[in-house]
Amino acid sequence: MAATEDRADVVIVGGAIIGSAVATFLALRPDFDGRIVVVERDTTFRTSSTTLSAASIRLQFSTPLNIEISQFGVELIKHPERFLAVGGEVPELDFVENGYLFLATTAGLGTLQVTHAIQRQLDVPVVLLSPDELRRRFDWIATDDLAGASLGLSGEGWFDAHALLQGFRRRARSLGIEERPGEVVAMERDGDRVRSVRLADGSSIQADWVVNAAGPRADAVAAMAGVELPVRPRKRLVFHFDAPVSIGAAPLTIDPSGTYFRPEGPSYIAGFSPRDGEADPDTLDLASDRAPFEAIVWPALAQRVPAFDRLRLLDTWAGHYEVNTLDHNAIVGPHPRIANLLFANGFSGHGLQQAPAVGRGLAEWIATGGWETLDLSPLGYERIERNEPIRELAII
Ligand SMILES: Cc1cc2nc3c(=O)[nH]c(=O)nc-3n(C[C@H](O)[C@H](O)[C@H](O)COP(=O)(O)OP(=O)(O)OC[C@H]3O[C@@H](n4cnc5c(N)ncnc54)[C@H](O)[C@@H]3O)c2cc1C
Repeated sequence: MAATEDRADVVIVGGAIIGSAVATFLALRPDFDGRIVVVERDTTFRTSSTTLSAASIRLQFSTPLNIEISQFGVELIKHPERFLAVGGEVPELDFVENGYLFLATTAGLGTLQVTHAIQRQLDVPVVLLSPDELRRRFDWIATDDLAGASLGLSGEGWFDAHALLQGFRRRARSLGIEERPGEVVAMERDGDRVRSVRLADGSSIQADWVVNAAGPRADAVAAMAGVELPVRPRKRLVFHFDAPVSIGAAPLTIDPSGTYFRPEGPSYIAGFSPRDGEADPDTLDLASDRAPFEAIVWPALAQRVPAFDRLRLLDTWAGHYEVNTLDHNAIVGPHPRIANLLFANGFSGHGLQQAPAVGRGLAEWIATGGWETLDLSPLGYERIERNEPIRELAII
């Protein structure tokens, strides 16, 4: 062993929203007083999914566990003072609680009804609307081809993702957590444990626990421990535009075409994901591209919202979904045979809202060896090996 090798109880690879949430919730526990080191390759976070996201949170999932995970996310976003206050200062998250609005044609109405029933069982404040009711609430929507919609009445909307990230990092620092700039490039195994991580500068840190919070690079980090993780970086574009005619306080609206939009201050943002069968290559490239706005997004927007017939594209950026190619759901918890390697990966477009519950959950696992508040075991790596996808019906 090199004489200079560092040692920590927990090394977290990646310090954006997931890494900083795990670190903060662990350090908040009275039953844990170990040393936590967060290794981050880009401390500007300019390339992290966290800062490039649409920063929204919803309760409208079809998997009860995903709903419960977001319910805790909403609690934290509405009450940052309970978790993130430092010296009396509380991050301002600017939560805009306008709801999500899922629109359905006849083909999609059945799914909306099924998910509605599940959501109501968990007391999600959500309402199904007929096309007439939809028009009465939102007179800017073209409803001719629609059979219904589902609207979240509270606990859904968007917030300042930068402020949430900085809030977690600030709280983590106040609790003594160390952020180490650097890139983890290798791991050393000792039988069925990860013994240490090696950084690009040649230093290494021995650890009792290693948490993979590397976002779209999670598969590369897992591979360092000899593990195959079916998480792939997929480019998603966000288009920022303004419209000459205001439609007022709109919800985050998901069109049956797959295009979504929401207000962003006085303007709007929009995006889309490729449909099944369409090209969606793995890439870490972050180049933006305006062409899909003209070809895909604007036509869909203008058809759904006639007031968007005229609009002005202000800006375009790209980020990465960290897509779990098995089922588009998070992979959380220990590797079945490398017990000190913990995953918090594959969020597939909803990791920001899931960070509070997943951070809290992994802190429980590290401190006690079990799940205390929410049983996250259905999200475990075992389902990957068994090839048993979770069937979440509400994927955006
Ligand atoms: C366009 C877009 C829209 C989205 N909209 C939403 C939304 O509305 N709501 C929502 O909940 N989610 C949304 N998401 C998803 C969400 O942004 C991600 O799921 C979430 O940010 C994942 O957080 P993370 O910390 O795991 O990953 P990241 O934010 O990518 O952070 C991973 C960090 O790990 C670091 N890292 C990687 N490898 C290494 C290494 N080897 N050594 C050291 N550091 C390393 C990286 O530098 C990075 O900072 C969206 C994503 C995109 C791209």
